[in-house]
Amino acid sequence: MIEMPEAKTIARQMDETLTGKTFQHFSRGPLIHKFLWLTKPAEEYDAFLSGRKVTGATSYGRSIYLCVDETHLLWFGELGGRILYYPVGQPLPGKYHLRWDFTDASAMIFSLQMWGFVGLLEKSELRSHPHAEVGIPPLSEGFTQECFDQLLEAYPEKAKKGIKGFMVTSQFINGIGNGYLQDILFRAKIHPQRKIPTITEAERHQLYDAIQATMSQAITLGGREDERDLFDNSGGYRRLMSSQTAGNPCPTCGTMIQKISYLGGACYVCPLCQV
Ligand SMILES: [Zn+2]
Repeated sequence: MIEMPEAKTIARQMDETLTGKTFQHFSRGPLIHKFLWLTKPAEEYDAFLSGRKVTGATSYGRSIYLCVDETHLLWFGELGGRILYYPVGQPLPGKYHLRWDFTDASAMIFSLQMWGFVGLLEKSELRSHPHAEVGIPPLSEGFTQECFDQLLEAYPEKAKKGIKGFMVTSQFINGIGNGYLQDILFRAKIHPQRKIPTITEAERHQLYDAIQATMSQAITLGGREDERDLFDNSGGYRRLMSSQTAGNPCPTCGTMIQKISYLGGACYVCPLCQV
């Protein structure tokens, strides 16, 4: 799934590459996916977008916003898959779910994995939309240690669920998914099942620092290696704790990295370093 570092990378590339282009045509591709959500019928996307210009791209947490004229947005919400740009002359693949053609004969496609949301809406509708992004992104101005501590306190399930629940399912923080979470918890030396009331003040600082360090490093490296950018390049961030490293020695202490299932998705932990 696209998390904040991938969203920032793709948004920056869209801004640099697509700004100034004019949409010629929008269409669904040859593949159908029941977990791909649009906010209107595809024909309405095509009728609206044709002849309109890309005026920039931004991101917020895990969402990417491609600006259409001054008034509208294409909103790539919570999604997994590839958003790929095809310059003039580069043949498109045979299989994809959505396609945008530009008047200069370049194109962009979206191939979905898991699920995804691609909305077309007015900028003014964004915050009031039922799927509006909530939560604060790491590295944003308001995401201070104090803010983080307050959110931990406010988590209604803090006595029932481990820290993983707060980090990826509570919607308090926007942009961290199960992928980067593994490295964040490893760097903070905290086990995903650890309950918030047992986390000490010093550990809260370790956790906050691990979030900021992991996210900024991943953004600098263009996302993680198992995701692709707009040009189909892998990111440069190699995860310490993942399916690729399970069974290998922990980089700190040499204990074998374990895979456990917890709250809908695998976790990778060092049973000695993470308590
Ligand atoms: Zn270890």
